[in-house]
Formats: sequence, C-alpha cells, structure tokens
Amino acid sequence: MPTIDDFVRPKEWVSDFVVEMGKVLRRWGQERYVPIRQKVDEDWREHELVEPLLKEVLVDLGINAAFFPAEAGGTDMPEPATFITVIAEELARIDSGFATATLCSVWGLLPILLPPHRNMELCMEFGPKFCGDELYVGCHAMTEPAGGADIENFGRMKGKTIQTTATLDGNEWVIQGHKIWPTNSGKVGDLYAVVCTTKKGSVDPNDFALILVPADTKGVSVGNPYQKAGMNADMNSDVWFDEVRVPKRYRFHGPGDDLKYWKRAITLGNIGSAAMCVGIMKSVYEIVKRFTSERIVGGKALKEHSIVADMLCEVAMLIESTSAWMWTYTREVERSQDYGREPWDERFVLKTRGLALFANNAVERACSRAMDFMGSYGYAREFDIEKHWRDQKVIGIWMGGKGLKTLENARYWYDLETL
Ligand SMILES: Cc1cc2nc3c(=O)[nH]c(=O)nc-3n(C[C@H](O)[C@H](O)[C@H](O)COP(=O)(O)OP(=O)(O)OC[C@H]3O[C@@H](n4cnc5c(N)ncnc54)[C@H](O)[C@@H]3O)c2cc1C
Repeated sequence: MPTIDDFVRPKEWVSDFVVEMGKVLRRWGQERYVPIRQKVDEDWREHELVEPLLKEVLVDLGINAAFFPAEAGGTDMPEPATFITVIAEELARIDSGFATATLCSVWGLLPILLPPHRNMELCMEFGPKFCGDELYVGCHAMTEPAGGADIENFGRMKGKTIQTTATLDGNEWVIQGHKIWPTNSGKVGDLYAVVCTTKKGSVDPNDFALILVPADTKGVSVGNPYQKAGMNADMNSDVWFDEVRVPKRYRFHGPGDDLKYWKRAITLGNIGSAAMCVGIMKSVYEIVKRFTSERIVGGKALKEHSIVADMLCEVAMLIESTSAWMWTYTREVERSQDYGREPWDERFVLKTRGLALFANNAVERACSRAMDFMGSYGYAREFDIEKHWRDQKVIGIWMGGKGLKTLENARYWYDLETL
C-alpha cells in the first residue's frame, strides 16, 4: 500500500545527511508536536509552548547550526535548497506555522551564510549565538505598513518604496523605520535582518541595504502579536526602529551585493513555500485516506464511491505534480552552474514565483476538496483538515501575495514590459 514516501522525491538528489534529518524531524514531530498540536494553536499570544519546541528543533536538533560554517560552530550543511525543501515539507506536514517559524530563523541571514558569499566576520560573531545551547532566533524584516509586495517587486519598483532608512554616521548605521508582519517578530526574534534603503526614494540598487539589528539594541521596540486565521506557531507583529545604532560591519556585504545575494534568499523562500504546501498536502492525503477507508456510506467505504475516488485521485495528482515541479527547481537552483546561472540570478526568483503560486493553489484545492468529502468531520478541529485549510492560505498571501507571484512569473516567461 503506497504511503506519503511514495510521492516523488528523487533519491539520488538527496544526501544521506538530509534524508536522516527528515526522518529525525518526522519522529520528533510525531512524538513531541502532534500530541499538543491543538494546544499550540491556542498559544498565539504567549508562545509558551512554541518557544521550547523551537529550541528543540533549532538548537537540539541543529537546524540553526546547519547553515553556519564549521569555524563559527555550525555543521556547514552543503545543500541549502535540498535541506530547506525536506525540512519545510516534514515540519509543514505537522504544522506549517511551526515550519515557518523554524525556517525563518535563518532565512534573512542566508545572504551572509551561504557560500560563496559568506560574510565570515558576521558568521563568527553570530554563529556562537545561533549554534550555542540557548535558543537564538532570527527574523527577516522586509514588509512595511505601506506595503510588502512593492518591496519584493524589486524588478519594477527598484526599492523606491522602502521607507526604513539606514544612514551612516561615523562607524555606525542609524536605522529608522517601521516593519510589520515578519515571522518571529514580537517577543520571539533575537536578531533582525532588516531591509533598508540608504536613500529614500532611490532606484539605485547600491542603496538597497541589508543590516543586522539585535533585538535588544536601544531604540528597537515591538508590538503585540497579531491574531491570525491560522499559523499560530508563527508570531507576527510590528517592529519599530527608532534611531537604532549598530556597527558599520553589520551591513551584510555593501552596495550592490546586498541586493544581489538577497535574491537567492527570495528564491529559497519560494521553494520553501512550495515545500510547505507539499508537506500539508501529504498530511491531507493521510487524513483523507484513513477517513474514507473507515467511513461507511451507502453500505460501503466512502473511498469506494466513484465521486470520492475522483477527489482522492485529484489530491494524489496535486501532490505528485507539485512535488515533481518542486524537486526539479530545487535541483536546478542547487546545481545552478549546470544551467549557466548563479544561484542568486533574478531569473530564479521569477521562475520559482510560479512554483510557489502553483503549490499554493494546489494545497488550497486539496484541503477544500478533502473537507467537502469529510463533511462536518473535516470542518471539526480534531481531524486537522480544518487546521491545514486555515494555515495554508497565508502561503499564497505572503512574499508579495498571489498578485506579485503571478506578475513576476509572467514577466519571466513573456518579457512583460510595463507590469
Ligand atoms: C504569517 C505571515 C508571515 C509573514 N512573514 C513575513 C516575513 O518573515 N518577513 C516579512 O518581511 N514579511 C512577512 N509577512 C508579510 C507578507 O510577506 C506581506 O504581507 C506580503 O508580502 C504582502 O504585502 P502586503 O500585505 O503589504 O500587501 P500589498 O503589498 O499591499 O499587496 C496587496 C495585494 O496586491 C497584490 N499586488 C502586488 N503587486 C501588484 C501589482 N503590481 N499589481 C496588482 N496587484 C499587485 C499583492 O499580491 C496582494 O495580493 C508575513 C505575513 C504573514 C501573514
């Protein structure tokens, strides 16, 4: 009888290390997370349950450390896209909000962590914190109250809407601005990777700046967490930077290169988003398979009714097709040199927008169809379809929303000139 492990995952592309990490997370999730999953959903304001769980995966299971160089205390995992894909999928099968909180701890830092553009000075300074024994969490702060999509829509907007400014004053950057929504904001984040401009309104790529700001720096303050429809293991709130001073060396790379390497983080964010959708769909598959086998309607198991088999087939096809596409892009980005591109090439950003959009449409459809056939049970909390249905929606909304994902993908394939 097929299981979730029979959906596409090219074995020859995934190292033993990553396979093992996936297995460890699956076991951990089953033992540690699933029994309290419903309670975690109520923990959106305090994160009393979430923070210890985050410590278990980020510190004890070494997910933070995987991205840091060995010299800085990390384990220097060599395949970032593959690793992110497997981790995102495994954790999202349990809880996509928790997958988001976990992976966003390092997401904003990828431009300084990934070879060949590592910033060793910053890795050495922050590695011991991320790879130590205590929980230390990162947060990628891009979105602002006036808009998130325009900031990510760099190809057209060129950073001119970024309102958070970084001004050099001697040996320090002075940060002024207001970010909103970033994962791991509120009381969770210890270190912000902040998207800034060195000149408000500028369209010069050299003015795009990525700067690290420790959360305990004078002038940083946070708001209360937002109560969302789902993804409650991810805390989102406002962050204000009021005349915040950090050392000049906290700028990731400098003019031009900050933007260049940030694009790789966006590409990996798109792939990670797709992997979360696949993880959720695998959980939906398991739930709906069990339910339609056990539920008797009209004298036989629900799955033996042709109209239900149609839904079961569609869910399986959505998983298989999304997985196949996701793995192909994961590999393409991982082996970018074979495709004549650097991993931070903007064309990967645009292409993977299409994958993220497709994956979100797929998971939305899978949750909805599964719920249709589970009837009121699907709508009840204890069967978890309802949780995935609420949680998955935001995967389409974040990172510029479905609008930006559509536009950027069409821009890639059709050379749009005005959109
Ligand atoms: C759970 C969660 C986690 C998040 N995590 C992070 C994070 O880690 N870091 C972070 O910085 N932010 C994060 N965000 C914020 C999120 O990325 C933004 O909300 C998102 O980018 C959209 O920005 P916006 O809400 O300001 O919408 P807007 O930018 O106002 O966009 C509104 C709508 O317009 C569409 N649109 C965009 N451009 C165009 C166009 N040219 N033409 C037509 N339509 C267009 C968009 O797709 C969207 O549907 C998170 C949000 C949530 C809910």
